[in-house]
Amino acid sequence: MDLIGFSIGCRHCRETDGKRWQFEYEDEERILPLAGRTDFGLMRVVERMTLDLGHVCPFCGSAQLEIFDLDLNGQRVFDFDQLCQRVVPQGLAVCALTIEKVASQPKVQLVVEPPETDLGFLIGALDEMAAQVHERPAYDFAAEASGAFYFCVGGHWDSDAAKRWFSPQKYTCRSLTQEEVLATIKVVRANLAAG
Ligand SMILES: [Zn+2]
Repeated sequence: MDLIGFSIGCRHCRETDGKRWQFEYEDEERILPLAGRTDFGLMRVVERMTLDLGHVCPFCGSAQLEIFDLDLNGQRVFDFDQLCQRVVPQGLAVCALTIEKVASQPKVQLVVEPPETDLGFLIGALDEMAAQVHERPAYDFAAEASGAFYFCVGGHWDSDAAKRWFSPQKYTCRSLTQEEVLATIKVVRANLAAG
C-alpha cells in the first residue's frame, strides 16, 4: 500500500484549495524500469480517482482539475536530474521538451540525456509526447498570451523497432492550446529530422 500526495488546482477558475491531498494506492504496474510509478502515471491514477469520487472545485464546482506536485510516500516523484542519474547508467535515455509561451510566441527547449543519444530516440520521444497530448482532455488547454508546457519522456532506443519503448514521465500544460502544443512539437521534430 502506498500513499500518493498531491495538490489540486482548478483549470476553470484557476483557484486552488491550498490543501495537500492523499490517496491510498495499490500499484500493480511495475513492468518496465521507467513505467508504473512515474509522475505522469500517478497523475493519471489520481485523475481517475478524483473523477470516480465526483470531486469538484470547491470554488466554482468545475470537475476540470489539474493534479500537480505529486509525491509517493512523502518522496517527490519526478526530478529530472535524479531520473537521469538512475536510468542513464542502465542504458536508457531521457528527454524533456519545455515550451514557454511569452506574448503568444513559443520558446522551445529540448534536452536529452545522455547527449549522444540516437536521433531516432528523440523523434520517437516527440511522437510519444504528441500521442499523449492528443489523448489529454480538452480542459487541459487554453488560449492565453503566456503559458507553459513541459513533457519528459524516458525510454530505450534500439535499431530493432521491437525493442524500442517510451515511457512518459512528467507532463504539465498551462494556458496553451492543444493546437499550439502539437504544432510546436511538429516543428521541433521537423527541425531534428532535417538535421
Ligand atoms: Zn474552480
